[in-house]
Amino acid sequence: MNNATNKLGWALVGASDIAKTRMLEAINCQPDSQVVAAFSSKPDRAQQYAQENQVEKAYHDLGELLADPEIDVVYISTTNDLHASQAIASAKAGKHVLSEKPLALNLADAREMVEQAGRQNVVLGTNHHLRNAATHRTLRRLTKEGVIGQPLAVRVFHAVYLPPRLQGWRLNQAESGGGVILDITVHDADTLHFILDDNVTDVMARSVQQGLGTGQLEDAVMGVMHFQKGTLAMFHDAFTIKHADTGVEIHGTEASLIGRGIMTQDPIGQIVLQKDGKTTEIDVGQAEDLYAHAVRHFNDAVHRKGKPFATGEDGVRSLAVALAVRESANSGKRVAVQY
Ligand code: NDP
Repeated sequence: MNNATNKLGWALVGASDIAKTRMLEAINCQPDSQVVAAFSSKPDRAQQYAQENQVEKAYHDLGELLADPEIDVVYISTTNDLHASQAIASAKAGKHVLSEKPLALNLADAREMVEQAGRQNVVLGTNHHLRNAATHRTLRRLTKEGVIGQPLAVRVFHAVYLPPRLQGWRLNQAESGGGVILDITVHDADTLHFILDDNVTDVMARSVQQGLGTGQLEDAVMGVMHFQKGTLAMFHDAFTIKHADTGVEIHGTEASLIGRGIMTQDPIGQIVLQKDGKTTEIDVGQAEDLYAHAVRHFNDAVHRKGKPFATGEDGVRSLAVALAVRESANSGKRVAVQY
């Protein structure tokens, strides 16, 4: 905590694209938080990244960063293989942690993150941005209110083209946790957990390489998730599709909710209700930046006023589904989700 400003000090662990393009502003636009430090594993990059993004301190030694008393919260956006060890070290140092998804590369590590945060009495959140969207919150509310009756089927359209600037480790480094399933399917799982308030029991999936993924890394996947209350959800996730819109459709016994352009990082898109041949546009209320909404809730949780909008436990759940999808795609078999 900075004694002069009384703001929570955030550190960006990982000199990443997402930290500079989305999270820096989301943290600094809050009245009660400020990015005070940035970390890269390389000293020169740490300096350059901090300078370019007007961040006061640059670190290349995580231990030194974690010893800094002005840092209250660590936001982790390194490659996926590093999230768990950096989160656990941060929690042990008494820092609150907002980790990028997937929380880890395996469930044991993800669970250890949650347990360690609990032991140290620090907040752990998962940066599942989509549930922060006004559109997704509206879909959850309407579904819970029973507007569509019992949800029977869901269709998720989350196939995009991976921007050239991000065409690196996701496509060629299995050891860093690359592949579309850990990148995008993990978001679908969280989105559907959130909207349906239900858990996936088992999955079936087929993945392929369509020109971008290398080695064992898939760049496109389609599949089916089955939920405890009986809903069937189909999903299409890809890095290879240039001209498709994104969306989520929820079809219930009484009506359907159709969300178009809503599987995105921006507060955009539209929801309509379809019933008896009539289509009605739904007002989703005030649009707020998804990442700002997440940080606002995270800061409140640090002040012991509520929980992160996506908790560590939510991150474990979405990872469990993504790992089951990957196993199903690899084995060609239906896989039960191990939470
Ligand atoms: P980047 O590829 O931009 O950064 C990941 C790591 O790669 C950095 O920590 C950095 O290591 C290294 N790196 C980045 N750029 C360079 C460079 N020019 N030269 C050398 N090293 C470099 O990752 P993303 O921002 O795309 O993703 C980071 C994490 O965030 C992932 O876990 C991803 O899943 C998640 N993510 C989440 C999103 C969301 O909306 N929730 C959206 C996008 C990503 P070092 O820090 O050591 O310098």
